[in-house]
Amino acid sequence: MVKIFHETNGDLLNIKNKTISIIGYGNQGRAQALNLRDSGLNIIVGNIEDKYKNFALNDNFSVVTIEEATKKSDIVFILLPDEIMNEIFEKSIKPHLRVNSVIVFASGYNIGFNLLKPPENVDVLLIAPRMIGVGVRENFLKNEGFFSFIAIEQDASGRAKEILLALAKGIGTLKKGAIMLSFKQEAELDLFNEQGFGPAFGRVLLSSIYTLIDAGYPPEAVLIEMYMSNEMSYTYKKMADIGLIKQVDFHSQTSQYGAMSRGIRFRKLPLRDKMEQILKEIQDGVFTKEWEKSLTKLKFKLIKYFATKQKINKLEKEVRKNLKLKLYNIYEEEPPSKEEIAKLKNISDEIKLFEQYYE
Ligand code: NDP
Repeated sequence: MVKIFHETNGDLLNIKNKTISIIGYGNQGRAQALNLRDSGLNIIVGNIEDKYKNFALNDNFSVVTIEEATKKSDIVFILLPDEIMNEIFEKSIKPHLRVNSVIVFASGYNIGFNLLKPPENVDVLLIAPRMIGVGVRENFLKNEGFFSFIAIEQDASGRAKEILLALAKGIGTLKKGAIMLSFKQEAELDLFNEQGFGPAFGRVLLSSIYTLIDAGYPPEAVLIEMYMSNEMSYTYKKMADIGLIKQVDFHSQTSQYGAMSRGIRFRKLPLRDKMEQILKEIQDGVFTKEWEKSLTKLKFKLIKYFATKQKINKLEKEVRKNLKLKLYNIYEEEPPSKEEIAKLKNISDEIKLFEQYYE
């Protein structure tokens, strides 16, 4: 049975006299630091010398180095980008942890896939908001909260659960609800959403766009119809607020009949096998191993370049110009250098496939 926790399950008294450091004052760092302080807790910020340090100072936090913040605190929130976390953890955080220190992550990735190894004598906790940082703050201020996935990887102190629930309450997630999973499950769900649902949805969207454009409808009207109007985000919100099928009531009878009667024609889209394969590669660590390789980082750079060169970007640029919308520089991305491309020669067939796919 899944365990779901709410406001009454957390007691702030369990962490009242603790010093909490927020390492990394970025998207999640700023939101979580402000929420925890507004919950009456004692917060310091550990950050390098950059513009985020100034944001923290402007918000009236005491800001020290990452090493100093770790030394001074009982509970350490590690809110750095996942891909650099391990290096900073080893160098600046791990040496300064104490027996029964508590470390808290906002993503299960590094612990779930054994990429980061904490000492055995600390508590290792996860509070992963299903919400971007700005939303974490806004929903706290609106008193509505937001969903999170939480987990305990190590309980060295014997008090990990009460500390976790107190912190979850302080951040504001218990107002909506926190679901207990493992670090690995949280990471897998996140990766699957990005690798299974995201690309499949993108294909459906592009296929609809080109069907309409090839049939002669003006691109401006097509892009507005398909995504630029923001109507889809309202529909998504209604799905969350009242239900996937119930939200249909907000659409006309014609719309409802059309969608339901035609929907059946898509029932045999060959999605399920691909989805299961993608999930398996995530669960078995195949994806993580691939992403760790330095060659993959180069491959990523090249694929990203191909992606910016695809037809939809040129089309969108033109449409945005005509609609007098702001233009972004994704359209002028630099290609990788010749030397970088040469390093990929062993996988040139695979690269060719990507080039054709994004034509
Ligand atoms: P950000 O990209 O906002 O970065 C966080 C901070 O890390 C910034 O202050 C950044 O400063 C700093 N940083 C980056 N590189 C270094 C470095 N080499 N040394 C020291 N500090 C550095 O991260 P997020 O808030 O997006 O992500 C933090 C965690 O939250 C991750 O685990 C992520 O998976 C998780 N998460 C994120 C969500 C989101 O919506 N963004 C949602 C849920 C969880 P600078 O850039 O100046 O270096």
